[in-house]
Amino acid sequence: MYTERVMDHFNNPRNMGEVDHFNAEGTVGNAKCGDIMRITMRIEDGVIQDVKFKTFGCGAAVATSSMATEMVKGKPVEEALKLTNSAVVEALEGLPPAKIHCSVLAEEAVKAAIDDYQKRRQG
Ligand SMILES: [Zn+2]
Repeated sequence: MYTERVMDHFNNPRNMGEVDHFNAEGTVGNAKCGDIMRITMRIEDGVIQDVKFKTFGCGAAVATSSMATEMVKGKPVEEALKLTNSAVVEALEGLPPAKIHCSVLAEEAVKAAIDDYQKRRQG
């Protein structure tokens, strides 16, 4: 049902936890399988220096959060905002159709965190 890449990220999630002294935070959830995803970031000079996630949810949600953090780490904010769920799914070599909504969560969480950062900057 899941690709090897998905299983790898599920069994060995990258960037799990919470960033010390984060200045961006986004929490999103979906009602379908009850996934909750929280992403914290430390952004300096417009670049995502560090990013971590905590996901309470299904295997697909854990794997997509893990992959999404890998894809935005070290990237400028503008580039991270272009991350789409389809890019994450592609990087995971596919997800079962019933689990696509879980990957949308990763895209939303990244955007929510960057949104939070930009609001904090405007003070
Ligand atoms: Zn899910």
